[in-house]
Formats: sequence, structure tokens, C-alpha cells
Amino acid sequence: MVSYRIDIMVLIWIGLAIGVLFIIILIAKLLRTPPHEAVSFNTYCKKCGIKTNGLKCPKCDSSYPSRKYR
Ligand SMILES: [Zn+2]
Repeated sequence: MVSYRIDIMVLIWIGLAIGVLFIIILIAKLLRTPPHEAVSFNTYCKKCGIKTNGLKCPKCDSSYPSRKYR
């Protein structure tokens, strides 16, 4: 049966394609993770840990405007 062999070959190719796609998605997620962690790390103060959204920390930065008259 020639058609039976073709069906098995098609199933094997589909399986390979799904496996390759799965590996590509995993690699893409692994490559995306480091920049995301770096960004989220920068949004928090390194000294006290409060969220600063990448701005200077109002608690720790002595040059912050509210501490001008200290
Ligand atoms: Zn701070």
C-alpha cells in the first residue's frame, strides 16, 4: 500500500515540524527572559528595593529635589 506509507511519512513530518516549532518557541522564551529581568531589575532601587520605574530613588538619592534644603 503506497498511500499507507505516504500517510506515515506525513505523520512523521508533522511530528518533526511540531517538535521543531516547540524547540524554537522554547529558545525564543529563553532568549527573551534575560532582557525582561534586566528591565524589571532597573525599575527597583538597588539600595532599598522600592519601585522607582527607572527613575532616581527618592529615599536614597541625595540629589532628589525634595532633599534640596537638607
Ligand atoms: Zn532607594
